[in-house]
Amino acid sequence: MVDYDAVVVGAGPAGLTAALYLARGKHRVLVVSEKIFDGPVGLLELIENYPGFPDGVSGGELIDAMVTQASNYDVEFETDRVSSVEKTEDTFVTALDSGEKITSKILVAASGSRHRKLNVPGESELTDHGVFNCAFCDGGKFIGKPVVVVGGGDAGITEALYLSKLASHVYVLEFLPQLKATAVLQDKVYEAENITVQCGVSVTEILGEGVVSGVRVKAGTGDSETIDAEGVLVDIGLLPNTSYLSELISLEKSGHVSVNEQMATSIDGLFVVGDIRTSSPGQISSAVGDGAAAGIHAIRLLQQLE
Ligand SMILES: Cc1cc2nc3c(=O)[nH]c(=O)nc-3n(C[C@H](O)[C@H](O)[C@H](O)COP(=O)(O)OP(=O)(O)OC[C@H]3O[C@@H](n4cnc5c(N)ncnc54)[C@H](O)[C@@H]3O)c2cc1C
Repeated sequence: MVDYDAVVVGAGPAGLTAALYLARGKHRVLVVSEKIFDGPVGLLELIENYPGFPDGVSGGELIDAMVTQASNYDVEFETDRVSSVEKTEDTFVTALDSGEKITSKILVAASGSRHRKLNVPGESELTDHGVFNCAFCDGGKFIGKPVVVVGGGDAGITEALYLSKLASHVYVLEFLPQLKATAVLQDKVYEAENITVQCGVSVTEILGEGVVSGVRVKAGTGDSETIDAEGVLVDIGLLPNTSYLSELISLEKSGHVSVNEQMATSIDGLFVVGDIRTSSPGQISSAVGDGAAAGIHAIRLLQQLE
């Protein structure tokens, strides 16, 4: 006898959607997540590209509604970190940091990603002393101060635009010859009066004694310069949170997990959804789609097992 029909790792849009579908199929579902309301989506100030909200929606409002909807169908929640998962015969055994072990017939991995580091001198020492990853969480510390944003993708530019409302000046630094962000975001960033964009440059050091005082930047020409700043937001991509799966399935070099169109893996009963699956578009709407696909196919598998 297993504890649950399905354990879902991660209370982001992918995991919450898979849990909703499974619970509506009358299956017992537990969502285990390190963070529930304050995961990556919960911290977003405004989401403008999730369908159904013509004026946008705050991440907190969206995740709150998803958790409430899943709870209405008796999905259970536990706040903890999954440390490992193993499969013995037909049963998944999910081990938590607290020492608890939970058994299930299905495991849906939906654990999202974490920020990639620059790995330059000063970064580790000055993290939380001016080096940060989330404008919406920590931007208030930099009101009226100059700030650097490293990374010109959608996430970095979104954060730079938010910071431009608080900081005295925002310097966006991108390693590639041009920004990677979508055209609409690029238009906004180039229109902002207090944002300067520099492409084709790399940060070689974060400067400061105890707190950030600036960054050292090297251009493609080899020239170096110092930009004075009191905050450095690093947003140069994401790494999948999949280490807890490494004993169960082989991960790609990037840490992602390969799935088929049903979000199923080479391990029967293991579904992988959202940002951590190979070729994920990395969007809330695609995470929701993945969760729905996994939920539907997990229900079919459970029917076969009964
Ligand atoms: C700054 C920023 C802005 C963004 N803006 C947008 C936007 O405007 N529109 C859009 O569509 N997308 C946006 N995205 C992308 C979007 O947030 C992700 O694509 C989406 O959240 C992925 O959903 P997910 O369910 O796969 O994972 P997540 O939302 O990352 O949720 C994963 C959950 O798993 C938990 N977890 C991780 N490891 C473990 C573990 N070992 N054990 C237990 N729990 C664990 C985490 O705490 C988290 O709660 C943005 C991302 C960032 C960083």
